Amino acid sequence: MPDLIVAGAGMGGLAAAAEAVSMGAEVELREKGSRAGGSMLLSSGVVWRHRDFERFRRECPGGDPELQRVVWESLDADLAWLEALGAEPLERDTHNPLTAGARFDTRQLTGALVAAAGGRIRFGAPLTEAAGGAPVVLATGGFQGDRELMSRHVTPWAGDLLLRANPWSAGDGMRIGLAAGAELSAGLDEFYGRNMPAPPARVPEEGFVALAQLYATHATVRNSRGEEYEAATWSEIDVVQWTARQPGARAWYEVPDAALDHRVRERTVGEMVAAARAAGAPVERRARSTVVEVVAGVTTTIGGLRIDTTGRAAPGVCACGADAGGVATGGYASGLAAALVLGRIAARSALGAVG
Ligand SMILES: Cc1cc2nc3c(=O)[nH]c(=O)nc-3n(C[C@H](O)[C@H](O)[C@H](O)COP(=O)(O)OP(=O)(O)OC[C@H]3O[C@@H](n4cnc5c(N)ncnc54)[C@H](O)[C@@H]3O)c2cc1C
Repeated sequence: MPDLIVAGAGMGGLAAAAEAVSMGAEVELREKGSRAGGSMLLSSGVVWRHRDFERFRRECPGGDPELQRVVWESLDADLAWLEALGAEPLERDTHNPLTAGARFDTRQLTGALVAAAGGRIRFGAPLTEAAGGAPVVLATGGFQGDRELMSRHVTPWAGDLLLRANPWSAGDGMRIGLAAGAELSAGLDEFYGRNMPAPPARVPEEGFVALAQLYATHATVRNSRGEEYEAATWSEIDVVQWTARQPGARAWYEVPDAALDHRVRERTVGEMVAAARAAGAPVERRARSTVVEVVAGVTTTIGGLRIDTTGRAAPGVCACGADAGGVATGGYASGLAAALVLGRIAARSALGAVG
């Protein structure tokens, strides 16, 4: 029997397995999909925290303050740990004055973590229950891939959402945790995502980052009934969550010509509009504006299993990453950072080394 079973070979599971291997543990690392890296592999690779903790609290007011404190305080040391494993940051800057962290090449990061986790992953081997004696770390990446759970918790328009994530994260961790006696966190109706070019646009995995439509603050945002919504956050997470709850999970961004040259991080608004048009989204030219139809794209759910600061969800069961709620609740924080920090803690805790 292994010392530890880890479910999921994405950010949280690989960090947990690498930590456990470094402690000399025998780890069984099970992955439902056909490759390592989960949604981390598809991500922009920016592992970050808010620069100051008070701002983190203000922006994510529904989270557990103690859990947030652990993630916030541990991240810098855990980024150094990643570097020590051979994951070399492309830059140690997030280009956002409100946040600090580093950006990684996600292939290289995944490779370094897989090697540190011992290199042995059982692919196509989903964990379905936490029975069997060995402690378990759940890191299956949230429930955005399960339409029934999404319509129960997030939106009646779940069937219209675009899945902007790996295809395998479908609530397995939540089900396994609940069966073992865990409880649910707050914020089950929340998710992180981006509005994306609407059908008939083609949005392949490689386009998840490049096709994101991140300019609601420069546009008038309406639903199909013509009702307007005003963006309230820099991350626009409120806009995508609002969009998900509108008919067809759709919105229309009307962009005045004068806004097309504005920059949002490394792209102009005009470049994002052009990318939507090139992908095949409905884009309409008007006298002095352009209207782009977008659909809510879901990256990870924010609510999940309730854990304590040692990652524990139930006896013998720890959870991390998007399987664990309570970190970004009420707002937006780095899913990669939470998965990294709580993955390592969950492994130590499951092996009896903390708590
Ligand atoms: C396009 C995109 C851009 C993003 N950009 C950023 C960014 O810049 N910064 C940031 O912080 N976050 C970003 N994210 C979010 C980030 O990728 C996730 O928050 C993070 O990967 C969550 O880690 P995780 O371990 O919970 O899930 P994942 O990394 O998705 O790993 C979960 C793994 O579990 C596997 N699995 C599912 N069910 C089972 C089961 N029953 N048994 C075994 N294995 C199972 C899945 O196949 C998957 O491999 C982005 C995501 C996407 C898609």
